[in-house]
This record gives sequence, C-alpha cells and structure tokens, in this order.
Amino acid sequence: MEKCIFCKIIKGEIPSYKVAETNEAYAFLDIGPLSPGHTLVLPKKHIKNIFEADPKDLYPVLDLVQKIAAKMKEKLPCDGVNILINNGEAAGQSVHHCHWHIIPRFAGDGYKFPPAGSLSKEQAEEILGKLK
Ligand code: 5GP
Ligand code: ZN
Repeated sequence: MEKCIFCKIIKGEIPSYKVAETNEAYAFLDIGPLSPGHTLVLPKKHIKNIFEADPKDLYPVLDLVQKIAAKMKEKLPCDGVNILINNGEAAGQSVHHCHWHIIPRFAGDGYKFPPAGSLSKEQAEEILGKLK
C-alpha cells in the first residue's frame, strides 16, 4: 500500500526502532508509548483490520506477539502486559494497517481501564440471540 506509513516502516522508508522481524511480521516501538516498551506488531502484508484478514495471515503475527510479550516480562522486566488491537475508527484505529499493541505493565503503575458496566439477563439474552 503506497501511502500506508506502516508499510513504509516495514520497507525501511520511514525509520523505526525495530524490536524483531520474521518473514511474515515486523515489530517496532510505538512512537507514542503508553508505557516504556510499548511495541506494535504487524503483518508485513498490508491488511486493513481483522474484518478483512485471512486468519492464516494472522497466526505468524500472533506467534511473534507471544514471543515479544514473554521477552518483555523477562528482560524489561515487567509484571504483565496488555495486548490489544483496535479495529475500525470507532474502536480507535488510527493507522489502517492492522497491528497489535503490546503494552508492558508494572505493579502499581496506576493505569486503569474505564470502570466496568453491568449486564442484565435481558441484555445477555438479546446479545446471545444475535451472536450465537
Ligand atoms: P492505533 O490507534 O491505530 O491502534 O495505533 C496506532 C499507533 O501507531 C499509535 O499508538 C501511534 O503512536 C503509533 N504510530 C503512529 N505513527 C507512527 C510512526 O510513524 N512510528 C511509530 N513508531 N509509531 C507510530
Ligand atoms: Zn500497510
């Protein structure tokens, strides 16, 4: 994809702090880290998001995600990681080349997700009626 900044990073046309690379996947430090070590892992193939992906193209990326997470825990070291992928602008995706965020977490770092909502029996049944 010509205009995609992540395709340019993979090709070396835009510099990045590379963490790891395989035949299918590339990992580099996020320029706006949510915590020290925040890393992005992506397929080398331009895939917009999970809705458009062939699962076979994602397996090698997940393999690298898992390896990097384990390395972070041992070497940074960190106490845990959040792993997430934003799909679609409504979900916060700003770069439309799918990528996993690995965000190292440290005991007591204080970062909190918004408080959980609640789930009624009626809501659960309605949702399951759509998703199952
Ligand atoms: P998204 O919001 O699409 O899930 O995540 C995009 C991420 O890419 C953001 O966390 C942002 O900081 C990071 N990012 C955007 N442009 C660049 C760049 O040119 N270099 C690097 N290393 N990270 C970038
Ligand atoms: Zn791309």
